Amino acid sequence: MEIDLHDYIASIPDYPEKGVIFRDISPLMADGDAYKYATDKIVDYAKDRNVDMIVGPEARGFIVGCPVAYKLGVGFAPARKKGKLPRETVSASYDLEYGTAVLQLQRDAIKPGQRVLVTDDLLATGGTIDATIRMVEELGGIVVGTAFIIELKDLHGREKIKDYDILTLIEY
Ligand code: IMP
Repeated sequence: MEIDLHDYIASIPDYPEKGVIFRDISPLMADGDAYKYATDKIVDYAKDRNVDMIVGPEARGFIVGCPVAYKLGVGFAPARKKGKLPRETVSASYDLEYGTAVLQLQRDAIKPGQRVLVTDDLLATGGTIDATIRMVEELGGIVVGTAFIIELKDLHGREKIKDYDILTLIEY
């Protein structure tokens, strides 16, 4: 059965600031069929790439990546905001509209040579996923693909990660 995932995205005008339309995957997650459908699409993509490990940034990267990891029987490593991980980490910063933010990965999260899929709910400017990719590569991982539920085309994130393969399930 084909499902149009657009039907499961809530669009909130003027959030978090005026002029921005926030795309919210909560209705998709709340619907078992839609969540499974989106997950299965990413699972198929990952199977084609012989993925050993999945990495996703806090917090919706977990929601997208963890069910895929479970289904494939591979591991998942969370990329977290600075200061949340208890052991030795690697870090990468990325630009926000005002200032910068830092993500971290546990230093032993990835073994050199592991084939990694990076997941998040949404690709906007690409800054978050680019920072996540840089940490995976610093640890010797091979980024064999990136997967998102939503791509915001106008923000050109695809260009920022143009050296990598990209799966997006729907676009705005
Ligand atoms: P980027 O770093 O500019 O590509 O922004 C993507 C990150 O910001 C992802 O981790 C998203 O969860 C979050 N994000 C940006 N815009 C939205 C949105 O409209 N809805 C949900 N998350 C968003």
